[in-house]
Amino acid sequence: MTDAAATYAAAGPIVRSAFPTAIPASDYIAWTVSALDEYGLTPERTLPILVTCRDEVLSDLKALVGGAWGLTFSGTSLGGAFTMGRTGFQAAWRHIPEAELPLRLAVFIFPHIGVDRDGTIGSIHRQGRANASQACGAIISMHQEFKSGATDLSFDSSDPEMSLLRQGVAPYLLGRPVPDLVALTEIVRDVAVMDLLKTGVANAGEVADLALFSGILINGPDETSWVLPDLANLRHHDDSELVTLVPPNSGGS
Ligand SMILES: [Zn+2]
Repeated sequence: MTDAAATYAAAGPIVRSAFPTAIPASDYIAWTVSALDEYGLTPERTLPILVTCRDEVLSDLKALVGGAWGLTFSGTSLGGAFTMGRTGFQAAWRHIPEAELPLRLAVFIFPHIGVDRDGTIGSIHRQGRANASQACGAIISMHQEFKSGATDLSFDSSDPEMSLLRQGVAPYLLGRPVPDLVALTEIVRDVAVMDLLKTGVANAGEVADLALFSGILINGPDETSWVLPDLANLRHHDDSELVTLVPPNSGGS
């Protein structure tokens, strides 16, 4: 067993005690390549867009997507909100060579959450820091604001990404108790997906094949990265029917 395999074997039970269906991020990203191959979305002809948080702890995810899919259009924003909007999305697909029509895009939407060595959700040990720290710090900060009832939903130009993160989530919390951190992270994920579909799909329209992969990236013990899959599907430019893709289950490594 390699060192990496041993690290994942040790971290697996801790991560899966909190998230039973989590799979190693490397297995998940490798699966996305094989899942899209038969539909003609190969790494050579597909532009990947990664929507996730700015946190450097996500460098593993960024490297996995880049290693599998090539140069990646960045959709990073605090908390993993979809903030690139119509202009950002159009910029991404205008980078694809015109000779390659239909355009092929693979969008990955993955806000993140930590699981510490002792199984604590929302916490990680970062390299070179003795004490645990928060992940995702932006979502935890927003969670605390909502719980305190002192959330300012105005747009603060000195804090644009946090403003957009709050404004996107707030409507889904109306008339209900503030959810726990995992459920709030799921809302962040779902809002990002809805924003993509609203601003992205509406503008890419009939000239693009769009694959969407969403979920939560789990920062596990010893710098391991895991995926909790959610949506995986493909919108063909010439077919209104959505192709549902089925991610591997957690029976792997
Ligand atoms: Zn974060």
